[in-house]
Amino acid sequence: MTGSSYVGRFAPSPSGPLHLGSLLAAVASFLDARAHDGVWLVRMEDIDPPREQAGAADEILRQLQQFGLAWDNDVLFQSQRLDAYAAALMQLANEGLCFRCECTRSALRENGNVYSGQCRHYGVSARDLQYVDKDSSSDAAVRVRVPRETYSLLDRVQGSYSQNLASEVGDFVVRRKDRLFAYQLAVVVDDAYQGITDIVRGIDLLESTPRQLYLQECLGYRTPRYAHLPIIVDAAGDKLSKQSFAPPLKSERPQEQLHQCLDLLGLSPPRTLIDSSVDTILAWGIEHWDIQAVPKLATLKVPQSS
Ligand code: GLU
Repeated sequence: MTGSSYVGRFAPSPSGPLHLGSLLAAVASFLDARAHDGVWLVRMEDIDPPREQAGAADEILRQLQQFGLAWDNDVLFQSQRLDAYAAALMQLANEGLCFRCECTRSALRENGNVYSGQCRHYGVSARDLQYVDKDSSSDAAVRVRVPRETYSLLDRVQGSYSQNLASEVGDFVVRRKDRLFAYQLAVVVDDAYQGITDIVRGIDLLESTPRQLYLQECLGYRTPRYAHLPIIVDAAGDKLSKQSFAPPLKSERPQEQLHQCLDLLGLSPPRTLIDSSVDTILAWGIEHWDIQAVPKLATLKVPQSS
C-alpha cells in the first residue's frame, strides 16, 4: 500500500477507551515509526462485536488526537475487511491446512492449553468457509493444522523467542464457532495488506507471534520485525486492561501521561518537559528514541501518580 521502508501501526480493539497500558504501546510504536521517518497507521480491530463497547472506537481515535499521536492515511476498520479474511481462510483450506472442530468448550478445557488434535481427521465443508452473516452461529470452529516445528524470532526488545507450535499450542482456531474470524488470522492478513514492516506492541502478544509467523508462511506473506514491550500491571500484579477497569486516561493533563510513557520506556525525560505541549514532548521523544533503552522486562508497575 505504501512505498516507505518503515511502516508501523497501532491496532487497538475497541473494547473500551485507552488506558495507560494501551497508551504506552501507541506511544512506543509512534516514536519508533517517526524516529525511522516511517509511516504510522492506525487499524481498528473491530471484529469481535461481543467484546466491543459502543462508542469506544471513536473515543480511542479522539484520545490519540488529544495525545498528539497523529496517524497517516485513513484508519483501517477490520469490520470492513471480512471478504479478505474469508479469502485467506479459503487459501489455507485449499492448501489442505484446515479442519472443522466440533469440540465443546468443556472438552477443550479438560484437555488443557494445547489442542489435543481430536478433530484433525475432519475436513472442512464449503459452508464452514463461506461468508455467512457474522451474527449466525455454526456448530463448528475452523482450525489450522500446525507442523511439529519450532518458530523463532529475534525480538528487538526481548531478544530471541521460540515456540514449538505442535507441543506448545496445537492446531489453532482461525474462524470461531460464532463464525467470527479469529484475531490470529485477521492480524496477519491486515499486516500484510497494509505493508507493515515493524510491529511494536505489548509482550502479552509475544506468545501469539509464532502462530502469526506460521500463518504468514502459509499465506506467502513477508514477516515484519517485532518489538514486544513490557506491559503495565497494577499493585496486585494484574495487567492494566479495559476488562479489569483500568483507570481511563486523564484528559485534562495529557502531558503528564505522555511524560510517564517516555519515562516507562526508559528515555529519562527531563522533569521540566512535563510543562511543554504534547507536540513538544513527542518531538523530544522522537529525538531521544532508543529501543535499546526499553526495559527488557515482562511487566512494569503502574506509576504511583496514576
Ligand atoms: N488488537 C490487539 C489488542 O488490542 C492488538 C493487536 C496487535 O497489536 O497485534 O490487544
